[in-house]
Amino acid sequence: MKVDLLIKNGVLLPMTGRDVLRAGSIAIDDGKIVGVSGSKDAGMGYESDRIIDASGKIVMPGLINTHTHLAMTLFRGVNDDLSGMKWLERAWKIESNLNPEDVYWGSKLGVLEFIKTGTTCFADHYFFPEKVVDAVEDTGLRAAIARPIFDEGGPDIDTSLETGLEFTEEYAGAAGGRLTTLLGPHATYSCAPSLLSEIGNISEKKGYGVHIHMAEGKEEMAKLEEEYGKRPVGYMDDAGLLGPNLLGAHVVYVNEEEIARMGDKGVNVSYQPTAKMRGGEGVTPVPEMLEAGVNVSVGTDGAGSKNHLDLLSEINIAALVNKLVGGRPTVIDAWDVLEMGTINGAKSLGLEDQIGSLEEGKRADIIMISTDAPQMTPFHNIPSQLAYGSSGCNVDTVIVDGEVLMEDRRTHLDEETIKLRSQETFERLLARSNMQSRFSGTPKNTND
Ligand SMILES: [Zn+2]
Repeated sequence: MKVDLLIKNGVLLPMTGRDVLRAGSIAIDDGKIVGVSGSKDAGMGYESDRIIDASGKIVMPGLINTHTHLAMTLFRGVNDDLSGMKWLERAWKIESNLNPEDVYWGSKLGVLEFIKTGTTCFADHYFFPEKVVDAVEDTGLRAAIARPIFDEGGPDIDTSLETGLEFTEEYAGAAGGRLTTLLGPHATYSCAPSLLSEIGNISEKKGYGVHIHMAEGKEEMAKLEEEYGKRPVGYMDDAGLLGPNLLGAHVVYVNEEEIARMGDKGVNVSYQPTAKMRGGEGVTPVPEMLEAGVNVSVGTDGAGSKNHLDLLSEINIAALVNKLVGGRPTVIDAWDVLEMGTINGAKSLGLEDQIGSLEEGKRADIIMISTDAPQMTPFHNIPSQLAYGSSGCNVDTVIVDGEVLMEDRRTHLDEETIKLRSQETFERLLARSNMQSRFSGTPKNTND
């Protein structure tokens, strides 16, 4: 049988279990995986005019970043070394001056970085999401996008439930089916109980996922305690939101009982180690959550909180920091964090039937990692090399929905134009916000 694309001779990590197939092949047709084989003569009876020889490369599912604010690539370095609420106030001030064009170029820059570092699907939570959709459509990536909903604080942008819901309904399944939409209440500290209950009802009735920041900061804990006498998990539970449709980002401040409750209710957690370490906040108790049956995935947060969007590096940090606080190297292992970056991410977006592993019938979202670099030699313990010894720079080829978006590190995008337009957009945005870069050497504005 003739297919669109054959990948041959690669070292496969299908992520369907914990196996490595030493000389594997994958057949792709019409955007889907139609065959996976671990044997050397793995044409599997398929032929193709397009064959990628993956000799010396690791072939695995595309990485899934389950929490980011993509256009915040324009905030890279702007608010570094500031405390939580001060960081947020400055961000909101700049965001009040955001326009759709900014979000388009910021998102396109982010997508370029994703492709260059092996992320094939991301969960976004940002303003003017129609422009994030445009960036996804233009570039061929896959995404699960939410429009932020607030009723307290936030920038001067329409963040009502109505517009959030409208977006969720209108764009579901867009970009040739590569787009999923979620409801995006911003956070427990910026959404009142009545708003969250309403979102809970809609989610239950229509089956939409809900992507929210929760249990992420000391100030949030104090506010909920003072105003409602509650902690974030209880606050979300009382609003009817604690269930399998929920994707909670960060989730640092949880106790044993709350972790058990989240596990029982099938909650999904997205972990951002760098953002929380940088904020001096704390560590999401990942081993305890996995043990309790919570589905934990990993995200970078926006580039205003991590500076770069390399998920392999985030996976590495997720493992290291949990080993550190757990006091033992065995609390989490390389396979755990690789699952967090692939199949667990797919589950947390309700996409486990479509992506997250290399299996017949799934969409062909695949990355290849070169083993050429010195740090990949000697080549033997593959999960360990990926989780602890590689970074996005080692990603060589990226395929989404069967389309090759990068090969030998060359993308199909006009990379120079994207970088140039993003730089110009950043400078105009900062000027409109009456701010200057804190690191430009120019005098600081008094309104800053
Ligand atoms: Zn965030």
